[in-house]
Amino acid sequence: MSFHFLRKYLDKIKWFDLSPDAGAPNCICSLCEQLIGENEVPIRAFDTARGLEARFHIKCFGTVTGTKIYALPDDLEYYPEELP
Ligand SMILES: [Zn+2]
Repeated sequence: MSFHFLRKYLDKIKWFDLSPDAGAPNCICSLCEQLIGENEVPIRAFDTARGLEARFHIKCFGTVTGTKIYALPDDLEYYPEELP
């Protein structure tokens, strides 16, 4: 899968040098900077050249990529209200 961040968000997202599990106190969304809870699935993007990670709530990932995420393939009940 490939994607690109919308240009208007490039300088607004935070990058991190750690990759904590969902629910950890430092598992913060790169866009809204709110906690990603242990019952959520972070979408992670890696900048391997710099050793950095950006991570997002599913809805925030949709915002920065200009896409609409309905559900994860292995977790179709995660956002059941958004299923088509
Ligand atoms: Zn977020």
